[in-house]
Amino acid sequence: MKFQSQTMNINFKNAVGYLTFKNLEKFSFLKHCFSTRLGGVSRGQFKSMNLSYSQGDIAENVEENYKIFCEALDFNMEKLVLTSQIHGSKIKCIYENDIKSGTLNSRKFSGIDGLITDIKGVTLATFHADCPAIFMVDSVKKVVGLAHAGWKGTVQEIAKKLVEKFVLEYGSSPSDLICSLGPAIGQCCFEVSTDILPEFEKLGLPKTYLKRYDKNSDKANIDLLEVNKQILLKEGVLKENIVKSDVCTKCNHDLLFSHRATNGKRGGSAAFISIV
Ligand SMILES: [Zn+2]
Repeated sequence: MKFQSQTMNINFKNAVGYLTFKNLEKFSFLKHCFSTRLGGVSRGQFKSMNLSYSQGDIAENVEENYKIFCEALDFNMEKLVLTSQIHGSKIKCIYENDIKSGTLNSRKFSGIDGLITDIKGVTLATFHADCPAIFMVDSVKKVVGLAHAGWKGTVQEIAKKLVEKFVLEYGSSPSDLICSLGPAIGQCCFEVSTDILPEFEKLGLPKTYLKRYDKNSDKANIDLLEVNKQILLKEGVLKENIVKSDVCTKCNHDLLFSHRATNGKRGGSAAFISIV
């Protein structure tokens, strides 16, 4: 398996493979990663590190995958906080009293597509299979966040809502925020029907995210990471503090779960971030 990227590294701990963003690796107060398909126990379409409970995999296998993954990455499973996403734009801040005990499933927050915390030792996780992850870090106030930004969350401006929460709840300055976007389905593979373009146009952004290879076709290719980047720039995040992953999940579907590459027969990857 050949992995090529200017923005991300692939790392291995035992058989567990995971990606990290080069621009976040330098912060010693945090740990982050994006899971790959490598190193788990799930089979078939879930092979092998499936971290999603909602795609039909055997629950015991998913549980075992979490154990393997958390042990490899040294994440405290008791302090893992997960989303239960709805392609919405609600963000939840995690405080001490939100850290429940019980099974992983009982520690999911439903209807939530983004999480933020400033508590040491808590690990946040969001789920992805083509939809972009937004990693957000306030390097001054030491706050970390994650969001799931598929096209619906993107046009609902979840990126903007994430910035607003950092500012309102933690007193962050947008110019201190470091953002890493992806990995996700790239513009190379994210073809959409032109019917949905008005959803993007109403954001009023420069159309650098849009490519129409054939003007007569009712299809267009969208760079979702670029849309999110434009939204973040509008919110005051600095250009030099935003990195877009160059790893396309569909082109790399042997390594990462991709909804489109498999017509939805797939497991789920997860993004993780924590303050250490
Ligand atoms: Zn691609």
